[in-house]
Amino acid sequence: MVEIKTETNLLLMREAGRVVAQALQAVRDKAAPGVTLAELDGVAREVLAAAGAGSPFLGYRPDWAPVPFPAVLCLSVNDAIVHGVPDGTRLADGDLVSADCGAVLDGWVGDAAVSFTVGRARPEDTRLIETAEEALAAGIAAAVVGNRIGDIAHAVGRVCRRAGYGIADGFGGHGVGRTMHEGPDVPNEGRPGRGMPLRPGMAIAIEPMLLAGGRDHHYTAADGWTIRTLDGSRAAHAEHTIAITPDGPRVLTAL
Ligand code: MG
Ligand code: MG
Repeated sequence: MVEIKTETNLLLMREAGRVVAQALQAVRDKAAPGVTLAELDGVAREVLAAAGAGSPFLGYRPDWAPVPFPAVLCLSVNDAIVHGVPDGTRLADGDLVSADCGAVLDGWVGDAAVSFTVGRARPEDTRLIETAEEALAAGIAAAVVGNRIGDIAHAVGRVCRRAGYGIADGFGGHGVGRTMHEGPDVPNEGRPGRGMPLRPGMAIAIEPMLLAGGRDHHYTAADGWTIRTLDGSRAAHAEHTIAITPDGPRVLTAL
């Protein structure tokens, strides 16, 4: 089901999205070699609590998951693509971290992710992250009335493929609203002019996931959550929740 949001709904979603942005900024500021993933999750919990927001991640249990998700952040390091579970692992110099966060405020959800390095960055990681951000920007730019879901998917996928990266097979964006995952699906690769027409009031998460090795294959780790590249190459993830409006795309998860 695709729920069309009113302007009032979107203003509330913007506030939830702002909390997500604040949490991700705080996590990024705290991240450094030696800091544990659990400590970063604690930073995000504090930001959500201070804003009076809940977490759509904490306790989330889709039917394929063996256990409820135990944290408010997904932290996916190096060859982890998405859904990494924060634990006592300490960040090391040169790690590539993807942080994905959600918030629920006044019944509305925001969902966003950012990738960054800690310590001394490898140039190839910087390029991977910049391309993920470029793919996200291209997807957002295509999110205009008159286009279709396939135009977003095509815009995202083209940036990834041109740079020689793989795309996590079977994962992508989604509608966002009163729940974190709603219709429509927003794939990271597709054919222009295909799929659902974009209408004012639609809110969607666009989230490219790029695999440095150039292949699309991945596997689920023993924890039942973490998705890792099959070839062990690094991955980057970038995500915003945006709204389709008559005036163009509106990013809901910016600061
Ligand atoms: Mg997310
Ligand atoms: Mg998402």
